[in-house]
Amino acid sequence: MMTMLRDVFLFLSKNKRLSMLGKKYGFRFGASRFIAGKNIAEAIQVIKELDRKGLAVTVDCLGEFVDNEAEANEAASHMVRLIKTLGKESLDAEISVKLTSLGLDLSNEIVLRNMRRILETAEQHQIFVTIDMEDSLRCQQTLQIYKLLKSTFKDIGTVIQAYLHRTIEDMQQLEHYSPNLRLVKGAYKESPEVALSEKQAIDENFKRIIEIHLRNGHYTAIATHDDRIIEYTKQLVRKYQIPHSQFEFQLLYGVRVDRQLELSRQGYKVRLYVPFGDDWFGYYMRRMAEYPANAFTNKKRL
Ligand SMILES: Cc1cc2nc3c(=O)[nH]c(=O)nc-3n(C[C@H](O)[C@H](O)[C@H](O)COP(=O)(O)OP(=O)(O)OC[C@H]3O[C@@H](n4cnc5c(N)ncnc54)[C@H](O)[C@@H]3O)c2cc1C
Repeated sequence: MMTMLRDVFLFLSKNKRLSMLGKKYGFRFGASRFIAGKNIAEAIQVIKELDRKGLAVTVDCLGEFVDNEAEANEAASHMVRLIKTLGKESLDAEISVKLTSLGLDLSNEIVLRNMRRILETAEQHQIFVTIDMEDSLRCQQTLQIYKLLKSTFKDIGTVIQAYLHRTIEDMQQLEHYSPNLRLVKGAYKESPEVALSEKQAIDENFKRIIEIHLRNGHYTAIATHDDRIIEYTKQLVRKYQIPHSQFEFQLLYGVRVDRQLELSRQGYKVRLYVPFGDDWFGYYMRRMAEYPANAFTNKKRL
């Protein structure tokens, strides 16, 4: 039943027409629990509230299905405005970007030009930028773009997904760049040819990449809501005496709010992934796919 629901939500997440209707009619079905407002001003209020609670953020301007260069450029301009606004505040705020929203599927030239604009502004304001990882078809290109940009910009990171078969090899190839990586299980529907499908196998690979990256001495964001992975990480850092300044836990805005605050109280750095914007439908459907029980609950958000 849960697998079926997951597939339905992932299928819906790719529906362009529903996404456009979502934009037109605004937040529905409790989406505001996971999305910090429709615009920068609303998002900043939420971020300030999180900051007062000791929670850092990485902010994402929601955007899917970019069809042409003008839309990709506009998405980049939106990011630039966000960075400038964040730069005026004294907040522990980073940003996250999806390369498809900046023109990845249009051309390398467009996406690179947009990324350079974002990174130059981010550099001026000392704001770190993480390139989210999307589906496996875009993984190779995303990593190539990351490597290219990392040679010029130091405050840039990307994401590695534990479910992909290629992941360990990717980490070995990234080693040369001393990368700051966010490690996740992986959120997209992938075929068995490219990804593990058994939860236990994904969890084992997740633990493996957490250990490799931390023990290689690189900054690591462990992005999960899974208590067993969080406990594993805590034990690992104790065992190898890894300083708290070398890692952080990341969780999604609106998910496991009590756990976010508890980790922060325990002295761990906690950063929330905070999306905002009117293109909410695809993001919301992926959250439902990860944890279909969310479709039937409506807990108060932070
Ligand atoms: C900060 C952040 C950034 C991410 N960036 C990316 C990215 O760039 N690319 C990508 O592919 N994926 C990304 N993801 C998503 C990730 O890949 C997983 O799909 C997602 O985190 C769910 O996996 P999990 O590790 O939380 O564990 P799961 O195996 O999904 O869940 C384990 C347990 O955690 C608890 N739990 C999980 N979700 C919820 C929930 N919604 N509500 C309540 N309890 C819950 C439940 O107890 C569950 O049994 C990101 C996730 C986070 C937190």
